[in-house]
Formats: sequence, C-alpha cells, structure tokens
Amino acid sequence: MANKIALITGASRGLGRNMALHLARRGVDIIGTYRSSSAEAEGLKQEIEAIGGNAAMLALDVTDIAQFPAFADHVVQTLKARFDQERFDFLVNNAGVGIAANFADITPDEFDTLVAAHLRGPVFLTQRLLPRIKDGGRILNVSSGFARFTLPGYSVYAALKAAIEVMSRFMAVELGERQIRVNAIAPGAIATDFGGGAVRDNEAVNAFVAQGIALGRVGLPDDIGGAVAAILSDEMGWANGTTFDISGGQML
Ligand code: NDP
Repeated sequence: MANKIALITGASRGLGRNMALHLARRGVDIIGTYRSSSAEAEGLKQEIEAIGGNAAMLALDVTDIAQFPAFADHVVQTLKARFDQERFDFLVNNAGVGIAANFADITPDEFDTLVAAHLRGPVFLTQRLLPRIKDGGRILNVSSGFARFTLPGYSVYAALKAAIEVMSRFMAVELGERQIRVNAIAPGAIATDFGGGAVRDNEAVNAFVAQGIALGRVGLPDDIGGAVAAILSDEMGWANGTTFDISGGQML
C-alpha cells in the first residue's frame, strides 16, 4: 500500500518542520512548502530522506492567493512525478507570522498581512486543494492558545486564530460527506523563530511564559510535531470539528 502523504505549509522552519519530521518517522511522505527559507527546506528534505522517508519542497506564499492555481498545478505534478499519486491525505495549514502590536497601534497594513496569512490564505488554499485531498483525508488548521487566553499585543492575531477554529467546525460539517475530518490545534507558547524568537531567546519572556504553564516550561517544537503526528494517526479518526489545546496547560 502507498504511504500516506501530508502537505504542510511553512515546513521550512519551526513547528511545520518538526511536524514533517515526526510524520516522516511514522512513514508519511511529505510535501512541504517554504516562502523564503529555500536552504532550510532543502535541509529538511535531506533529513527526511536520511531517515528513509520521501519529501518534496515547493515554494508558496500563503498571503498571495494569485499563486494558488499555479501552486495547485505544481502539487499535482509533484504527486504524479514523486509519489505516483493523484491525491494526498493530510493538509496542515501551518504557515504564519507573528506581529506583536497593541490594539491601539496596529496599522491597516499589519492587519491585512495577518488576515492574509492566518485566514484568507488557509481558506482559499484549502478551497483550491480540496479536489486533491483524498476522501477520508484530514485537514488540520493551526490556531493558537491566544484564541483562549489573553496577553497584550496579539488582539488581531488572536481573533484570526479564533476565526480559523470556527472555520474548522464549518469545514468539518461541509466536508463530512467526503469523510474528510477537519480539526485545529492550539499550541501554547513554543520556542521557535515565531514573533522574533522571543519565547526561545529572551530569558525574561521565557521565564514569564513558563510560570504560566502548569508543566513549568515553554513548549518545544517536538511537543507539537509529536502531537500532530498522533492527531493525524488512524486511531484519531473519530476526532472531527474540534480544537486540541496543546500547551502544557498554559494559563489554565
Ligand atoms: P516560525 O516563524 O518558526 O516559522 C514560520 C513558517 O511559516 C516558516 O516555515 C515560514 O517560511 C512560513 N511562512 C511565514 N510566512 C509565510 C507566508 N506568507 N507564506 C508561506 N509561508 C510562510 O513560526 P512557528 O513555526 O512557530 O509557527 C507556525 C504556526 O504556528 C503559525 O501559524 C503560528 O501562528 C502558530 N503558532 C505558533 C506558536 C509559537 O509559540 N511558536 C504558538 C501558537 C501557534 P519561510 O521561512 O520559508 O519564509
């Protein structure tokens, strides 16, 4: 039987990269996307191949919906040429940017960038790729703990993450006839490049965040990549239209 195939946006760094590695270790083939980090994407491909997996890396800017038709064609060609398939199993809408700006200060340009990355992109990319997702496949949207708890600086970002959680439920209802499960994950603060890498690199921020987490430390990429591989496993096939909080118990 052919391996399952996961398409992960923003696989070049951070959580997307880690998800790709965990899925590859479980025998899932990977189509990863990158926007600017082509060298990192190539490094991930080699790392996956070194553990006996298969991967292809494609360029994509999720804020530019004009690219989506050509990207979808590229996916079709890649599926055929690299994996001898016409469809893939899992779509993970992960790519995103953190822009910290207080409500009083956020600009229309920052607002538009956040909407494009975190809502418009995932919606229209998924819509475009739907014919290429297998019946019985899965869609996993990446939300954030900020959809549940509140700290200054992330009002618009958090509102968009809440929106993608609601969107996931409606998608689950409408795609149920194709047996496609749609869920979201809401990671707590994880040490990546996100938001300038503050959670990872700024000791004061790291300590402040850690004291708000029941398990006493900030999350690491492996905390999320492993969870995603588990959520996309066959055993989790009855989970649908829900959001998984994966935060170590942040701000309970
Ligand atoms: P990183 O900054 O480490 O990585 C971001 C990834 O997204 C990179 O691969 C980057 O690609 C890609 N990307 C960024 N903008 C675009 C774009 N316009 N089009 C396509 N790809 C893009 O962030 P994380 O891995 O931490 O974040 C991943 C997701 O997790 C995001 O949706 C974020 O909102 C969410 N999240 C993160 C948390 C955290 O604390 N880290 C907590 C909760 C949610 P490239 O480098 O090639 O440009």
